[in-house]
Amino acid sequence: MAKTNPEENGLKPEKTAKAKDTSSCSDCPDRSCYRNDHKYPSFCLTLANKKGADETRELYSSDSPEAKLLKAAGEIEAEFYGRMTRVEETVTLARKMGFRKIGIASCLALMNESTILAECLRSADLEPRAVICKIGSIDKGELGVPDGMKLLPGHKEASCNPVLQARALNDWGSDLNVVMGLCVGHDCLFSQSSQAPVTTLVVKDRVLGHNPAAAFYLSQTFYSRILDFMRYPKSRLAKK
Ligand code: SF4
Repeated sequence: MAKTNPEENGLKPEKTAKAKDTSSCSDCPDRSCYRNDHKYPSFCLTLANKKGADETRELYSSDSPEAKLLKAAGEIEAEFYGRMTRVEETVTLARKMGFRKIGIASCLALMNESTILAECLRSADLEPRAVICKIGSIDKGELGVPDGMKLLPGHKEASCNPVLQARALNDWGSDLNVVMGLCVGHDCLFSQSSQAPVTTLVVKDRVLGHNPAAAFYLSQTFYSRILDFMRYPKSRLAKK
């Protein structure tokens, strides 16, 4: 069995010509931290975070909430690898953790999917509560958004309110919150404000049918522009 400590295995940091100060795991050729079977690069973050590894090993070995969540996630991977959809995995995680009240932080555009998710959760004897992104109904105009920047100028158009979405679920006492297609940035605010752990079930992508990874898969062809920021579609807000 492979030893888990890189240095016990006689594996020393490898100096590579390519290594530079800004290198990180995305520049690593072998990812030896997974199976400890290659040399570690000089910029290796496992080697640079030995103290952190010791601290987190201890955390995961205690009866902390982090340890419980890590164990449940690991069991789902082991038991249902490639057999359960993410929806099923999410429901299973909630049940394994003993979570009962499940918040659904939903985008307006994902409400149909959120209604189905609520049904899935109820069928698993869990209690869902969906909170739409438009909660509070604060018009974008009240927040300084020019009328011309609304999707439908001249009409009331509520801003998303991710902080209130989280606070409403905090007040309810959710055990777990599930993000359903919140806008980029709004998801940050929701996660920051949520007291319960947050898991993302749907990542909104208005172009790629909520499958943002497709841009990576097509980065050598139709979406090569993602590798060249200057070719991105021009911002309507950019100064002329
Ligand atoms: S932790 Fe080290 S070995 Fe693992 S991917 Fe990052 S740089 Fe590579």
